[in-house]
Amino acid sequence: MNIILFGAQGSGKGTQAQMLADELKLQPRASGELLRDAIAHETPAGKIAKPYYDRGDLVPDEIVTEMILESMRGANGIILDGFPRTLRQAYLLDESLAKVGQRIDAAVYLEVPREVLLERLSGRWICRAHGHVWNVKTHPTRIPGICDYDGSPLYHRSDDSPETINRRLEKFFSETIPVVDFYARQGKLIRIDGTDTIEHVNQHILAGLSALGQQSVVSAVAEDRTSGK
Ligand code: AMP
Repeated sequence: MNIILFGAQGSGKGTQAQMLADELKLQPRASGELLRDAIAHETPAGKIAKPYYDRGDLVPDEIVTEMILESMRGANGIILDGFPRTLRQAYLLDESLAKVGQRIDAAVYLEVPREVLLERLSGRWICRAHGHVWNVKTHPTRIPGICDYDGSPLYHRSDDSPETINRRLEKFFSETIPVVDFYARQGKLIRIDGTDTIEHVNQHILAGLSALGQQSVVSAVAEDRTSGK
């Protein structure tokens, strides 16, 4: 099963991607993480991407698509976080999956109003080791500044400044919403109220996937219930 998770920055997409990856045994692929890694290592693609990234603009489609497709090679069952973000990326993704006999099975959209997104983003901290997402107000760690999962230090993203946040939200609503509609037209979209608690959002996503007829979700959820998780 291959799933896309859509949501503006601050919608809880990263947190839900981690949970779904564990629950459904999917491999998470986050385009933002791949880009941050490429920029930090000053790879040729990272050098091209950096100025776009720093401004909060979308990195050119070819660069980011190549990066994500490369990271997906050989993977069986993925959850995409942050990709595709433009219609061109969505077409390129569908095309290259079709070539290897695969497809996107479902696209989940976490809907959150802009005011809530702004408040969440200003309190967001990320773990250095694995990119786990925390929030001082809505999802704090037990020890301030330290990731609960792996004990690594947390950092505040350079593009989580107020001007850049606004710019990134603008891009999301203008460029990514048409991609959400693209999957709605294919009958693969599940809309979720992203303002609910983390656990409820997760349950609603699993229920939505089951309702779409994803048999592997039905079995994974049933298995967890039997084993009392
Ligand atoms: P994110 O971590 O998903 O918020 O992404 C951080 C930044 O990486 C974005 O503001 C863009 O500059 C860039 N980026 C991530 N994913 C994509 C994508 N699919 N297409 C273009 N740019 C992207």
